[in-house]
Amino acid sequence: MFVKKRKKQKPDAVVQQLINVVGESEVLYLKEDLISYECDGYTMSKGMPRAVVFVNNAKQVSEIVKRLNKEKIPYIARGAGTGLSGGATPFGGEVLISLVRMKKMLHVDLENRKAVVEPGYVNLKLTQSISDKGYYYAPDPSSQYACTIGGNVAENAGGAHCLKYGVTTNHILGLEIVLPSGEIVEIGEEGVPDRPGYDLLGLLTGSEGTLGIVTKITVKVLKNPEGKKTVLAYYDDINDASQAVSEIISAGIIPAALEMMDSIAIEGVESAAYPVGHPRDIAAFLLIEVDGIAAGIDAQIDEILTVCKRNNVREVKVAKDEAERGLWWANRKMGFGAMGAISPDYLVQDGVIPRTRLPEVLARISEISKKYELRIANIFHAGDGNLHPLILFDASIPGQSERASKAGSECLKACADVGGSITGEHGVGIEKSAEMRFIFSDEEMAAQTDIRAVFNPENLLNPGKLFPSPGRCVEVKQGTVGTGT
Ligand SMILES: Cc1cc2nc3c(=O)[nH]c(=O)nc-3n(C[C@H](O)[C@H](O)[C@H](O)COP(=O)(O)OP(=O)(O)OC[C@H]3O[C@@H](n4cnc5c(N)ncnc54)[C@H](O)[C@@H]3O)c2cc1C
Repeated sequence: MFVKKRKKQKPDAVVQQLINVVGESEVLYLKEDLISYECDGYTMSKGMPRAVVFVNNAKQVSEIVKRLNKEKIPYIARGAGTGLSGGATPFGGEVLISLVRMKKMLHVDLENRKAVVEPGYVNLKLTQSISDKGYYYAPDPSSQYACTIGGNVAENAGGAHCLKYGVTTNHILGLEIVLPSGEIVEIGEEGVPDRPGYDLLGLLTGSEGTLGIVTKITVKVLKNPEGKKTVLAYYDDINDASQAVSEIISAGIIPAALEMMDSIAIEGVESAAYPVGHPRDIAAFLLIEVDGIAAGIDAQIDEILTVCKRNNVREVKVAKDEAERGLWWANRKMGFGAMGAISPDYLVQDGVIPRTRLPEVLARISEISKKYELRIANIFHAGDGNLHPLILFDASIPGQSERASKAGSECLKACADVGGSITGEHGVGIEKSAEMRFIFSDEEMAAQTDIRAVFNPENLLNPGKLFPSPGRCVEVKQGTVGTGT
C-alpha cells in the first residue's frame, strides 16, 4: 500500500524562536497538530493558534514570553483545556503556552498542612497522593480527574464541596508567576498568613490568565473529616426541593455539599455511565453531604431528614456505605458529560443567584426554554445558589447554535436581574465578556481593565478575554466562531 509521507513544513521565524528555547519536539506548528487546540471545553468558539509550546519550567516560560513580547505576538496559558468559557481558546494567531509538562508535586508539608505543586498538576492527583496520610485538597470541580491546579487558580474553580470549605481562592497560600514582562515573581506567604499590603493572591486567583502565567502553587491541604454522611432526597415538585435547600441553610447547618438536579439532568445521568436508579418521574433530587466531628453528624442528618419531610419529599435515604456514597457522587459528577447521552450538543451556563430566588429564576429558565424551543437541564450547587442551566441543541441543525447562545445569555440575564452574577466558577472568558455589562457599569469595567494594564500593559497575554473589547466581535457560526479584529 502506498502511504503518502507527510511533507514537513518549515517553521517560521517566530516558531523557530520557540524551538530555540524548548527544542523541536516541544513545539507544535503544523495545522493538523493544532486543530485539537482550536478551543477548550466551550466549543461554540474556535480559532487556530499559531503554535503550541510545551514548557518545562518557569525560566522557559519567561524566555518565551520575552521573545513573544519583542515580536508583539499574543500568547495564552493553557492547562488541560477543560475550561467552559473559552479562556484558553485562541481568536487566531496566538501562541499557546501549555503547562501540562509541569506536573510535579514539588513538596508536601503535612505538619503545616500545605503542598507545593507545578501548575500542570491534575487536581484529583493531589488528594489521591495524600489521602493515605489522612489529608485531602478541598476544591473538587467535577472535571477534577483532568483539570490542572494552574487552570483552577486562573478560574478560581469551585466544586460540590466548596459550599462549606470555600472555592480555590480560599486554598491558595502562594504563587510563583511569570509576569507579561517575563519577570518571575513570588507572591503570598512562605509561612506567614495574612501579611499586610494588597491581596495580590486574591487578585491573581480568578484573573483568567490575563495578569500572569502561574508556574508554581502553594496550596492548603485539610485533614480528612472524622465522619461523613450523605443523603439523597427525591422530590415531585422542584419548588419543594428549593424550599428544603433554604430551610437547611437557615437551620444553621452548613453541609459539605448541597447539590440539586432536575428531571432532564436526571434523564441524562441515568442514561450515562453511572446510573443509580433514580426514579425517572421525579422533578428533582437533592444530594446532601454532612461532614465533621463524628459525634455531631447524626444530629445534623436528623435535622436534614426532618426538613426534607416537612417539604413533601417523596423518598429520602442515607447512603448505607462508602460504595453507595461513591456511586451517588460519580453519578452527580458525570452530570455535564452525561448530557451527551441525550443530546448531540449542549452549552453549559454558570450563573449565581440568592438561594431564596431559586423558584423564580427556574420559572424564567423554563420560559427561556420554551421561547427558544430548546430543552434546558438544570444542575445546581444549590447550597450556594450556583446554577448550571445546560442548553441542549444540535449544531448540525441550522440556527440551533445561535438559539442556544441567545438562550444562555438570557439565563445569565435572569440571574443578574435578581442580584446574582453571570459566573460562579467557570469564568467569563470569551463566552460571557458581553454579559459583563449585566453586572458592571462602564466605570467599573474601566477600573478593572486599568488593573489589567498595570500587569499586562501591551495586552499580549490572553487578549480579548474577560472584558468586552471594542472592535473584537465574536460571531457564532454553527458551532464555530469567526473573529473580527
Ligand atoms: C465536565 C466538566 C465539568 C466541570 N466542572 C467544573 C466544576 O465543578 N467547577 C468548576 O469550577 N469548573 C468546572 N469545569 C470547568 C473547568 O474544568 C475549570 O475551569 C478548570 O479550572 C480549568 O482547568 P484547566 O486546567 O482545564 O484550564 P484551561 O481550560 O486550560 O484554562 C482555563 C483558563 O485558565 C488559564 N490558565 C490555565 N493555566 C494557567 C496558568 N498556569 N497560569 C495562568 N493562567 C492559566 C487559561 O489561559 C484559561 O484562561 C468543568 C469542566 C468540564 C469539562
